[in-house]
Amino acid sequence: MTTTRFAPSPTGRLHLGHAYSAAVGKDRARQSGGRFLLRIEDLDPTRSRPEFVAGIEDDLRWLGLDWDGAPLVQSQRTELYAAALERLQDRGLVYPCFCTRADIAASLTAPHGDAGPSYPGTCCGLADDPARRGTTPHSWRLDGSKALAIAGLPSWIEEDGRSFTAKTDEIGDAILARKDAPASYHLSCVVDDADSGVTLVVRGADLRPATPIQRLLQELLGLPAPIYLHHPLITHADGHRLAKRDLAPTLAAMREAGVDGRTLARDLVTGFVPSGFRLQQA
Ligand code: GLU
Repeated sequence: MTTTRFAPSPTGRLHLGHAYSAAVGKDRARQSGGRFLLRIEDLDPTRSRPEFVAGIEDDLRWLGLDWDGAPLVQSQRTELYAAALERLQDRGLVYPCFCTRADIAASLTAPHGDAGPSYPGTCCGLADDPARRGTTPHSWRLDGSKALAIAGLPSWIEEDGRSFTAKTDEIGDAILARKDAPASYHLSCVVDDADSGVTLVVRGADLRPATPIQRLLQELLGLPAPIYLHHPLITHADGHRLAKRDLAPTLAAMREAGVDGRTLARDLVTGFVPSGFRLQQA
């Protein structure tokens, strides 16, 4: 039995790309008589808004993609992430980092596309200074080299049977937490996928760069390895990606325009997308 999850960040209204991801996730769960879960990734306090949570739920219902059980809300689960971080701290696998907030903010949401320049390791190897930690805002970074020395290069299997092994340069010193936000996307994602018994992670190919580090964290924390389905992205017909900031039509707008949500979700699963859009081939 397959357990999948749809894990949007409530930072805007959903668009066609989200509908595709959720429809595929629900389809895989249904095919195996398994479960389709909803997880609200609201750890970024500056961008998450409650009205978007309500919008996500309305959109999924309109698509006929009801989820099993209560949605899991990350902002209510911070102790669990803190406990996972502590396990890594106890093993000396993380270090405090006092670098700029701009870096740190970038770690709070899922990295789409290029995850940005890798951290140069400025704070790695600094002598521990509890007094500084007590007074200076800091984040906690994974010591990527140490982690790799212990766990080796992580690998994973895609739903179509292909297996992948991460490359060393795909594992940076990722931020796992900061003082005023208990967990980064990577840490909360692996804790929650394991806790919810997710067996198949369905998400866009734009999140593929997150998989090496998440697989490594799973190994370090002794969490099971899910299978992954990094699906192709829906783009505008001219190949431009859909983004919340551009004028990609929201599902709410499509509903208002009279589109039938259930038919749309069924079409998406079969790879049929509305005119004006296309499914990018991997
Ligand atoms: N919250 C992430 C997003 O909005 C998705 C994370 C995931 O599926 O792993 O893109």
